[in-house]
Amino acid sequence: MKTPSAPVPPSLRSRRCASIAGAITLVARCYSPGDADSTGSASQAINGTVTFPNNSGCNADQQQRVRDVMQVVRTAVVNDPSALTACLRDAVTSPSWGHSAEHIVSRLLQNLPTEVQCDNSNPGRTYGQDNWINAHAPLSIADERIVFDRTFLMDATNTTARLGSVLLHEVMHNKGDTHTFDTEYRHSVNEQVERCFRDITGDQTFDLARRSTMPTESELQTFGSDGVDEPYAIACPTSAPMAGQSIATTTTIFSTNGVISQGQLQRLQVRCRAANGSTVTTAGTAGSGGTLATDDCPQGEVVVGVRGYADANHV
Ligand SMILES: [Zn+2]
Repeated sequence: MKTPSAPVPPSLRSRRCASIAGAITLVARCYSPGDADSTGSASQAINGTVTFPNNSGCNADQQQRVRDVMQVVRTAVVNDPSALTACLRDAVTSPSWGHSAEHIVSRLLQNLPTEVQCDNSNPGRTYGQDNWINAHAPLSIADERIVFDRTFLMDATNTTARLGSVLLHEVMHNKGDTHTFDTEYRHSVNEQVERCFRDITGDQTFDLARRSTMPTESELQTFGSDGVDEPYAIACPTSAPMAGQSIATTTTIFSTNGVISQGQLQRLQVRCRAANGSTVTTAGTAGSGGTLATDDCPQGEVVVGVRGYADANHV
């Protein structure tokens, strides 16, 4: 925190936004291991077998290749889905339709065989069902059906783990997850499953944002009056969202719905409430003097913004 050397005008010169509200929401939506939506009882349910229809288009070598791929999937996911689940829990997925990592894995591990066909992709065809590379699969069906491109499937530079990751990407299409082909693509459920599988099998390190490495706060650009001093910041400690503030100004008015301060700002304190607690503590002090007036949000709510103003003289 930088303490101003002179009274600071009551302008809102810097606003900090922490992802506290989102974190609280996520906590509220977490499933406990005993919930029906967790993968616990379903962890052994996936069939993990592959079938070929009579007209699959896969020759004997291609069928064996697919079986080898499914064996990798069975080893890395079916027998113990904990590594995939942990990776997905740390992923930043959009869009996820609110589905937790456990929910995604539970759908992936439904007790179904996976039917595989082989074809030649042709991305030059008219956009639509025929415009695909590597593999494709029908969206939102009751069973599991995917089509591999023969060249992609038999390319020796593609590891079985790589092919397995594509298989899971396509199976997630069967389960209803889909994506666009723009910047959101990499963050879709399909791609996150694909990348997590490559990561847990050692094929390729996960290369997207992780929840655990995201900054706890972001600072927006400064706006408003800025003629006296550099902006300063007071931050609440980790796991204690901002609940309110205490302000002393040259004139303080107590309104019916809180504290409205007028005049030049003399002192500012941030009020922080421990998560799931009722205790509110003060974090830091900027400035000095005056009589502090405090206004806190009700328990269960957090501050999401502060409004202020300055006059033409920056005060
Ligand atoms: Zn896809």
